[in-house]
Amino acid sequence: MSKLFEYQGKKLLEAGGFKIPRSMIIKSISDAEEVFEEIGSGVLKAQVFTTGRAALGLVKFPETLKDLHTYIGEMLSQSIKGYKIETLLFEEKLDIKQEYFAGIILSTGKSSPTLVFSSKGGSGIEEIVSKYPESVFFLDINPDKIPLPFELIPLLKDTGISGRILNLLSSSLISLIKTAIKNEAKSLEINPLVLTKEGKIIAADCHMTVDDYAVFRHPEFGIEIARELGHPPTELEKIAWAVEKDDYRGTFYFIQMEQNFKKGDGVLGFHGAGGGGSMMSMDALQTYGYKVANFCDTSGNPPASKIYRAAKIILSQKNIDGYFGSGSGVASQEQFHSARGIVKALREVDPDFSVVFRLGGNSEDKAIRILEDYTKDLNCSVKCFGKDTSVTECAGEMDRMMKEGREERGEDITNPEPHKFDYSFYTVTGGTVSFDYSLCKTCLSKVCIKECQGGILKEVNGVPVLNITKTEATSGKCTECLACEVECLAIGNGGGKIFLPIEGLEGGVS
Ligand code: SF4
Ligand code: SF4
Repeated sequence: MSKLFEYQGKKLLEAGGFKIPRSMIIKSISDAEEVFEEIGSGVLKAQVFTTGRAALGLVKFPETLKDLHTYIGEMLSQSIKGYKIETLLFEEKLDIKQEYFAGIILSTGKSSPTLVFSSKGGSGIEEIVSKYPESVFFLDINPDKIPLPFELIPLLKDTGISGRILNLLSSSLISLIKTAIKNEAKSLEINPLVLTKEGKIIAADCHMTVDDYAVFRHPEFGIEIARELGHPPTELEKIAWAVEKDDYRGTFYFIQMEQNFKKGDGVLGFHGAGGGGSMMSMDALQTYGYKVANFCDTSGNPPASKIYRAAKIILSQKNIDGYFGSGSGVASQEQFHSARGIVKALREVDPDFSVVFRLGGNSEDKAIRILEDYTKDLNCSVKCFGKDTSVTECAGEMDRMMKEGREERGEDITNPEPHKFDYSFYTVTGGTVSFDYSLCKTCLSKVCIKECQGGILKEVNGVPVLNITKTEATSGKCTECLACEVECLAIGNGGGKIFLPIEGLEGGVS
């Protein structure tokens, strides 16, 4: 569910025939004079995805240009949950006679939009319904047969509205319905909807959300990431979204929750699988006093390559003190795919902290072996558990390892010698799978062929080659299971090498 800022929602309402206050956008203190000249004294509101702005000092009523200067400076220097406020809305002051609530909410149960109106505004609709049920009506809307204004009049009367205002309100509510449907809003709420002393119906505030799957049809909204973030997307979230948006194999959901933390603050990179299991895991970490730098969910059978990219993105967060992964205890996916993706990322980053994973589910023993055995030569300490170890025990192990400090292994882990590749092909996400035949020729194991999930490799003259065309491999028959690199490294050979680009990450993101 993607959110629009108040000013964006209001522009859409205005385009749909709804009245909104005269307003201007402020991005810097230098806008103050022009804005004050145009609007005069008014209301200044920070454009943030958070409720209770007034209590946070993010709604102010400057009477003079000097006031406006002061408030703009204060608001633009503030951050909400670590994210800087960048946009302010300055509006004319309204002479309010009466406040109402009006909204369109998509009812998933009924698969239709529902119009909600209350003759009492000011608080959330749930509170209004419980306190003043007689003041509220709900009306299911058929998008193919939008009601006519006169059809709303009896409903409005039932909420206590009377007189000349009935026609004005019913026309405004029809504009609201049409705006919501045209813009595929999941919800569009006006609270308060006000009647001014001059007798105008005006949207004094606006909250609009859009269905994530509709966002691509509305580039005009400027939504960079079709997800509920609660803040403008960070650079790393944009990088993660670029990984996810065109790769429909499983889910990769990534949100940064903490920024500007220091090493030693107990903030961990978090890698969950499945919403419920992830929440439990984050709670378990919290009971040990840790915070998570990010929320991440890789679930729904993503390939190892997607897990790898997720792990690299998580590990790129500066100053994290550890990496903790846990999800639903019994995933149906073969867990060794996840293990291979994590191993590849850990081997490339080789962080100097503890790593704990709980990979419960199918083939968990193999997953645990891969994750623990194939990282033994790294600087980081890695522990992996299956479904029989509770999330709380895993969090406890993380705590123990962090307190103990990482084991000094005294081994120098350097990147492997650059390969001279003899045979390569592209993968479906723009990666490359390559083989160094000088190593393959002397390799007796040929584990790459045995473990290849796509079954697309065969041995010819003692080296692995594709059993299909390179075009077929690139079109997705190479499932990016990573076995030809990770399993090969595990036997100490290193003849298979996979490069999976992550757009934007190579440049370095803090
Ligand atoms: S890729 Fe690895 S496992 Fe496969 S033949 Fe080459 S060295 Fe052996
Ligand atoms: S070639 Fe086979 S083993 Fe290698 S990544 Fe592709 S599917 Fe996996």
